[in-house]
Amino acid sequence: MTFVSSLEADPEVGRDGRPSATATELLQGAPVALGGPRGLGVTRTLPNRQRRMVGAWCFLDAYGPHDLTGTAGMRIGPHPHLGLQTVSWLVAGEILHRDSLGSRREVRPGQLNLMTAGRGIAHSEETPRAHGGVLHGVQLWVALPNADRDVPPAFAHHADLPVVADRGLTATVLMGELAGAASPARCYTPLVGAEITLAAGAGALLPLRPDFEYAVLALDGAPTVDGVPLKPGPLLYLGDGRSSLRFETGSAARALLLGGEPFEERIVMWWNFVARDHDEMVEARADWTAGARFGDVHGYDGDPMPAPPLPSTRLLPRGRVR
Ligand code: MN
Repeated sequence: MTFVSSLEADPEVGRDGRPSATATELLQGAPVALGGPRGLGVTRTLPNRQRRMVGAWCFLDAYGPHDLTGTAGMRIGPHPHLGLQTVSWLVAGEILHRDSLGSRREVRPGQLNLMTAGRGIAHSEETPRAHGGVLHGVQLWVALPNADRDVPPAFAHHADLPVVADRGLTATVLMGELAGAASPARCYTPLVGAEITLAAGAGALLPLRPDFEYAVLALDGAPTVDGVPLKPGPLLYLGDGRSSLRFETGSAARALLLGGEPFEERIVMWWNFVARDHDEMVEARADWTAGARFGDVHGYDGDPMPAPPLPSTRLLPRGRVR
């Protein structure tokens, strides 16, 4: 069920026109080719040199819009995940997901594909044979907290997500809760992920939680967020302590809002895994190489991804800020 409610931001509570309580940081992304040098080009803004996480969000790849004419599109063969959730969200196009639980599901704009890896799962993602010609979206990971990181693997597709709207701003809540609207998607820590669309000339205050830290990524157009003009590419880190956030735009624009309670556990991230120490990574890598634990993905026309070699030094747990 989709519902629409007014944001009713309280101008007394909002900080419109006043200086930020928290300094903003513009985090530059790194260009990465998924699946090798000829693979799909993405811009990775999490983990970042300065900031590894925003809430429990620990990975953010943005891609496109890519014209798929004459290309194979997305071709990400079977690979394992551990200790995290994957969030697939599209602005344009479609992706076909298959996993070792037997799930086979296309995701399209406005829909969420959420895979909870827990103690281990494998999946593939590809451009389906019948496709619209343009691919534009984001792939995110959410770190699972220690108490829940061994949950059984699960996959969910959510086609009806709550929407809040006010003064030309429309927020679709993918994960967590925003302005009183809660996504049905299963979360394991207090967080939010929302797509913000802005009509031409929009200017609105979005109510936030002061106990969350937040960041915004422009997906389309040139939105101004907290007075900072954004374009697709870098991630604007906004810190915590805010009760509202101002979005403005001239032309129509689109952005991704991420937030959450600061994630205080130290984690190790390597390849497609989130764990707590080096030895867990050694074990996970060995299990994938041996065909154990993660299961098999059926129906993908290609080979599973081999695990890269582990670094020669021991991986160290890191906090959310480097
Ligand atoms: Mn994956």
